[in-house]
Amino acid sequence: MSSDQDLAKLIRDVPDFPKQGILFKDITTLLKDKDAFKKSIDLLAERFANDHIDKVVAAESRGFIFGAPLAYLLNAGFVPVRKLGRLPAKAIRAEYTLEYGTNFVEIHVDAIEPGEKVLIVDDLLATGGTVGATIELVKKLEGDIVALAFLVELSFLKGRERLKDYRIETIITY
Ligand code: IMP
Repeated sequence: MSSDQDLAKLIRDVPDFPKQGILFKDITTLLKDKDAFKKSIDLLAERFANDHIDKVVAAESRGFIFGAPLAYLLNAGFVPVRKLGRLPAKAIRAEYTLEYGTNFVEIHVDAIEPGEKVLIVDDLLATGGTVGATIELVKKLEGDIVALAFLVELSFLKGRERLKDYRIETIITY
C-alpha cells in the first residue's frame, strides 16, 4: 500500500444509492483490506501528530470507525456523538437538517472540558451539513476545535467552503 491513489482504488462506486442519480462512495471495500485500513488511519494520525489533541469527537456510526483508532494513536480520549436518546447520562443536543425533515444528535455534557483541544472525525465530507451539528455541540461545551478530519472528500459538493473557518484534513479527494 504505497499511495493515496492506491487507497482511492479500493473505494467502490455504487450508482443510484441511496436513490436514483446518486453515485455513492462505498468505503467498506477499503475497510475490509487490512493494509488499506491501517494506512488510512496512519495517514490521518500523521497530520495531527504535533497538535496535542485532548479529545477525538466522532458521530455514529461511521465516524466511530475512524475516530476510535485515531484517538488511540493520538493518545487522546474518544467522545461519541450519538443519535437522539442513546446516551445514558445528561446530554445536550443539536439539530440538523436532512432532505426530508430534521434530526438530532447528542453529546454528554461532561464529555469535553472548556479549552480542551478537539479533533472532529468522520468518514466522508460531502456538503458539510452533518459535521455542522457536531461542531455546534463541541462549541457549546467550549472545546477548542483544532481541525476536522475525513478519509474522503467529495470536493464538488463544496463542504470546504461551508466550513471555511476550520482547518480540514482529508486523504482522498474526488
Ligand atoms: P454531508 O453532511 O453532506 O457532508 O454528508 C456527509 C455524511 O453523509 C457523512 O456522515 C457520510 O457518512 C454520509 N455520506 C454522504 N455521501 C456519501 C457517500 O457517497 N458515501 C458514503 N457516505 C456518504
